[in-house]
Amino acid sequence: MALTDIDLANMDTQPFFKSQIRHLLNILYTIYPGVNVYFYTKNTALEFDLQEMPTNKAHLFDTIPADVPAIMEMTSAKEIKSKFIKNQENAAMFSTEPADWAEYSVLSPLGESDGIEGFLLAIFPKEVDRGMINLEVFDEVAASIAVNSVTSNLVESYKDRSDHLSVMLEVNTHLNVAATKTDFLFEITRFGKYFIQFDRAVLVLRPENTPEYFMIDSIEGDETGLQQGMSYPVYNSLVSKTILTGHHFIYNKSSKPDPDGIYRTGDFQEYPYSQVIGFPLAKIKNGPGVLVLESLSENPIQQSELAIFEMISQSLGAALTRFSLYERLNNYATIDTLTHLYNIRALKQRFEEELARAGRYQNSLVVLFLDLDKFKLVNDTYGHLVGDFVLKEISQIIRETIRTSDIPGRYGGEEFVVIMVNADAEACMASAKRICTAVREHQFEMNETNIENRISIGLSEFPRDGESMQDLIQSADAAMYTAKRRGGDQVVKYEKGMVPKSRA
Ligand code: GH3
Ligand code: MG
Ligand code: MG
Repeated sequence: MALTDIDLANMDTQPFFKSQIRHLLNILYTIYPGVNVYFYTKNTALEFDLQEMPTNKAHLFDTIPADVPAIMEMTSAKEIKSKFIKNQENAAMFSTEPADWAEYSVLSPLGESDGIEGFLLAIFPKEVDRGMINLEVFDEVAASIAVNSVTSNLVESYKDRSDHLSVMLEVNTHLNVAATKTDFLFEITRFGKYFIQFDRAVLVLRPENTPEYFMIDSIEGDETGLQQGMSYPVYNSLVSKTILTGHHFIYNKSSKPDPDGIYRTGDFQEYPYSQVIGFPLAKIKNGPGVLVLESLSENPIQQSELAIFEMISQSLGAALTRFSLYERLNNYATIDTLTHLYNIRALKQRFEEELARAGRYQNSLVVLFLDLDKFKLVNDTYGHLVGDFVLKEISQIIRETIRTSDIPGRYGGEEFVVIMVNADAEACMASAKRICTAVREHQFEMNETNIENRISIGLSEFPRDGESMQDLIQSADAAMYTAKRRGGDQVVKYEKGMVPKSRA
């Protein structure tokens, strides 16, 4: 089924799908305040129509023609990664009112590698710097929306069976209210008992980082014999077989007194359950996990009940995938993915917290403002990729030089801020000088070229040089700019009368 087949305007049959998309878009708005996001899906004329989403802040254009250069390029290359576009280069896209829009927009294709079904178009306000836009965030959001179509595919495949469709809607409504992974199993268990008798439900997952093991993720019911977090190698048991093949298993004690073992060989001594059924979380080989239902007595099961559970377990699988994507996205909301330092938003939040604490307890607080010297030259000479590599190394140097209680963040493209708490200005000055020296002495090696870098640092102190975050940053910035004017590669402490670059 194509994304176009999903009637997004009809909330009654697709509530879960629409609310998931809204949630994902809201994450983007949190990470990038002020951005406008448009959601397009392919229509039969091979153009892309704007879908009415509650989070769209403005309407720019209803249709993107398929011959816009950026779209043509992606479609022919089967490229499903997000990319920057410039409104000049893609004038057709912005034909209605291009004048006031930012230089940068991001186009994120939705779909699998064999076909693009739609796009997210994010348009940034003019003042946003390209360095602050993280394309991976857009890739993740686009991927999450594509995962949502798994759920919609399931709905489609059960459309002719209205009883199944209502189960599907019901189960997804339950999954939508779940806030933690444990809630997912709880909701499934509560709901699933309408269809199959069981006494214990176990969620078995295959962790992404150790695919050769599966792990007991959560248990609903008596925990005897199992423990959350237990792991088993993926071979030699019924659960293993389901993970490897994507097919469900049924074990009945009366008919199979001596099976392979449920979780591992040798499970059956004193195993109290007479019937165990395992459903794959995705109907694929090497899937992400299994939902295991264990009952003390053997119960007759209809084929239709098995079919319903096939569907429920796949919905659970899709919900779990969405969940881990959300977790990663929320991480993006605080961490800058290039440097792994705090991003500006999280940095400002930490700054306000520390400032309140310093004010209340009369603790010291020192701010460093760091800016690389002549960094444009590095980009111009070696290219943006090398520039990015240097920024990563610089961040590492900063992190290694400061104390663990200090708070480093990326403030702009090649600007950093470090908040130092509970240390006097002298000690902070010494730290800053060490950063300067370390940057000067570091060999930045890439593609057999050695690149030299220098950094200028300004220092301001609470409350002497400012009482608000804004004033403290401005003072440190002014001191940094003074360091630049004195030739760079040095640390300068703020003194009255120093002005930041913007006012020089
Ligand atoms: P100076 O600070 O010494 O005055 O000179 P500069 O060349 O460093 O000037 P400025 O601080 O104004 O330049 C910022 C440059 O940093 C512009 C841009 O090329 C580069 N830059 C900003 N963000 C990024 C990024 O994310 N990656 C890369 N590679 N370069 C970036
Ligand atoms: Mg700068
Ligand atoms: Mg600079």
